[in-house]
Amino acid sequence: MKIAVAKGDGIGPEIMEAVLTVFRANKVPLEYEYVEMGKWVFDKGFSNGMTPVAKETIEQLGMLFKGPMETPKGKGVKSINVTARKTWNTFANKRVFQTLHGVDTVFSKAGIPIDITVVRENIEDTYGGIEHMLTHDVALSRRFITRPGSEQVIKYAFEMARKKKTRRITCGHKANIMKITDGLFLDIFYEVAKDYPELKADDVIVDDLCMKLVTRPDTFDVVVLTNLQGDIVSDLCAGLVGGLGFAPSANIGDHICIFEAVHGTAPDIAGKNIANPTALLLSGIAMLQHVGLTENAATIENALLYTLETGIHTGDFGDKTIPPVNTTAFAEAIIQNLGKKPKLNAKEVIPNMPGTPTPLKLERNSMMVSQEDESESIAGVDLFIESDEQPEIIAEKCMRHAGVKFKLVSISNRGTQVWPTGSLYTNLVNQYNVRFESLDDKPLNQQDIIGLYVSMSGNFKICSLELLNSWGGKKAYSLAQGQ
Ligand code: NAD
Repeated sequence: MKIAVAKGDGIGPEIMEAVLTVFRANKVPLEYEYVEMGKWVFDKGFSNGMTPVAKETIEQLGMLFKGPMETPKGKGVKSINVTARKTWNTFANKRVFQTLHGVDTVFSKAGIPIDITVVRENIEDTYGGIEHMLTHDVALSRRFITRPGSEQVIKYAFEMARKKKTRRITCGHKANIMKITDGLFLDIFYEVAKDYPELKADDVIVDDLCMKLVTRPDTFDVVVLTNLQGDIVSDLCAGLVGGLGFAPSANIGDHICIFEAVHGTAPDIAGKNIANPTALLLSGIAMLQHVGLTENAATIENALLYTLETGIHTGDFGDKTIPPVNTTAFAEAIIQNLGKKPKLNAKEVIPNMPGTPTPLKLERNSMMVSQEDESESIAGVDLFIESDEQPEIIAEKCMRHAGVKFKLVSISNRGTQVWPTGSLYTNLVNQYNVRFESLDDKPLNQQDIIGLYVSMSGNFKICSLELLNSWGGKKAYSLAQGQ
């Protein structure tokens, strides 16, 4: 079995070498094809941070084991890591956080065991990076949560929870505020839960989840979240088990998977051979499990846990009374301990069952559309306009443009209604949302909206617009605060 390996930037080459040395010592039956990817490739003029050969190799092999990569500084440059995850549709980011004996934390000292798997949606949300300045003062980020995208990650989380025989699967969300986006994610969570009656499925609002994770981490098993919330919550969980040096990450897609550490390139210690390779090693172990090399995975994990139990550590963690070892010596210690079992959390060694299907060669992009069974109509439009005038003046001007098809129903500023009712204590910025609906409640068409747009543009700079759709008579848009 062949996999693509990208060593990465900063500490990447050092920790990758340490991990592959352990793999070789354990005779892991993998071949490595090194690919050119990272900041240094970007510097050579490849604008997405990888050579065309690297892209083709990864798409052929379907498996990428990568070191951390630096995001070039400057506007207009996208993160290589995020580009890779999104381009290859690795829709689920799985991060496992468990108590490691020898890595002291407040919880390990208190005898509270932690074994939490965070599954984070990996493509959508604000990570689309679709951002615009609407006025000189107002920036907008578009947050996409889609039905098919949410289904992919939530189904993966339930399937993984079933295989792991966990007790509980929890959806973290903010659906109390973001009723349409997070509401969709939460609805899908409970739709999928119906197929897994043996699992206790529940949900917790994300701020409460953070509090509960730091007070009772032992009560959580699998937590599934949207992208940004998942990013934050997974770093919180990394802190619970000793920090980013112990946080592995698997980016799972239908065709291509990427295994990497959560931490970055650690430029402050790069080239010194002192970095902790544990997170990358744990990611490599997860990759071995994923491709069915269960015996190698368990043997190496047991050797790692045994090594940690003996107190051997790199400079970033461990007992300060024991001098730290460097990256190479840490890997050597693990190699010496291959075949040994730790006192705590020893992994069962199950014979290898390799044979993950080779990725399908795709002829075209797959379109993910769910069945729509409700009739759709346009009930109105939100026009986002630039103005530094008072709400009543804007209302007066807008009403002149409403014509025979529209009525002005509301004006809001930063999501708070300021007309027809509002408060003088609401501070304003120079960007309003003016909401028009159909005058006689009859459905509108796009030409009606364009007519209004053209008319309104005589008075205002229109920054953007959103249709007010309605499905099966139900409003598919939010109300302004106070509307
Ligand atoms: P970082 O994770 O690189 O470093 C944060 C701190 O943790 C530093 O003090 C560092 O020395 C320490 N640290 C990190 N990994 C360590 C390890 N294995 N052993 C010992 N100490 C370790 O975060 P940063 O400084 O914010 O980011 C540096 C660069 O890495 C940025 O360009 C960022 O974009 C990139 N990055 C890449 C990835 C990735 O490739 N997946 C993830 C995060 C950040």
